[in-house]
Amino acid sequence: MSTFQDLGLSDNLLQAITDLGFETPSEVQEKAIPLLLDSEEDLVALAQTGTGKTAAFGFPMLQKIDVNSRTTQGLILSPTRELCLQIANEMKLYGKYCKGLNVVAVYGGASITEQAREVKRGAQIIVATPGRMKDMINRRLVDISKIEYSVLDEADEMLNMGFKEDITDILSHTPEDKNTWLFSATMPKEVAAIAKNFMHQPNEITVGRKNESTTNVSHEYYLVNARDRYQALKRLADANPDIFSVVFCRTKRDTQKVAEKLIEDGYNAGALHGDLSQNQRDLVMNAFRKNQIQMLVATDVAARGIDVDDVTHVINYQLPDEIETYTHRSGRTGRAGKTGVSMVIVSKSEVRKIKSIERIIKRQFEKKDIPNGMEICE
Ligand code: ADP
Ligand code: MG
Repeated sequence: MSTFQDLGLSDNLLQAITDLGFETPSEVQEKAIPLLLDSEEDLVALAQTGTGKTAAFGFPMLQKIDVNSRTTQGLILSPTRELCLQIANEMKLYGKYCKGLNVVAVYGGASITEQAREVKRGAQIIVATPGRMKDMINRRLVDISKIEYSVLDEADEMLNMGFKEDITDILSHTPEDKNTWLFSATMPKEVAAIAKNFMHQPNEITVGRKNESTTNVSHEYYLVNARDRYQALKRLADANPDIFSVVFCRTKRDTQKVAEKLIEDGYNAGALHGDLSQNQRDLVMNAFRKNQIQMLVATDVAARGIDVDDVTHVINYQLPDEIETYTHRSGRTGRAGKTGVSMVIVSKSEVRKIKSIERIIKRQFEKKDIPNGMEICE
């Protein structure tokens, strides 16, 4: 097994790694870091959530950019505001000994003028959501014509969210000879098309499915009458008093409703979805990170990529429309070597979907009964 020293990282980065307490590189880091440091080539990396992708592109980018210049050299695109902030914060931690480093997060729902001002002060690295980035470009608030390294993080999710045109547009403002590093959990044909259209014979890395984040998760399903879904959720929470969970709903409306009901019923819950203001979302996320909220009720989009280590349970209050999304949901638990449970509440009409999910995740579900819930089970 290799060490971070073996990967060719500079001393100021190694010092930050020591401070962070990272002992050994994860598989995707071990494969990507030397490749990105040694070559000026494009990269497609497939790895599930929780495998340490941020550092896999973050360290090489930090080592390669010139912090003595104020030119924007690195651009990281990611699907959501939360993820943007998270990546920007990680990059600042990784680069804490890179004197003069300026990382700016650019995302919707916050002042564009303020973000433009920060960029103008000389950001070598911008971490952005595609929508706001495009806006900034159109208003000529940012110059990305000198970009040397661009990252498409969670590429599958960005495309799922309909950012294809924005991404195309943004990349058309960057130099032809930049390097593009694409990271994705899955490789649907839309991602393959992006790789084909925007990248030049990219290197490819795949990190096996048998990684910590999936093998530590057990999958359970609970068959209930559709009208008893909410009751079932409460029973599951009652049976697990120390629960620290993300509860997934399909729509913003259901997310808000379920969170409100839980709060009314005395549970420690909060809602996270796109209809809330940025400020409300930050408050909820901070409370969740501090374990002040035990049940974070969220939409897939809002919860994407959120990296909170101690999540004990993922509850699929409703199954996602796209079965592949299940992988992203269950990846919220079982992180950092801990174990986790992914629970699905299903009605009779949806139970066949469990089989399809099993085929995709290559894992078996355990059929369980709602605790003390005879009368609400099928
Ligand atoms: P991904 O983007 O693949 O979902 P992240 O980059 O968000 O994963 O990393 C997940 C968590 O693992 C973060 O809390 C990060 O700080 C931590 N982490 C990353 N690399 C290492 C490492 N080599 N050793 C220990 N922890 C790590
Ligand atoms: Mg990530």
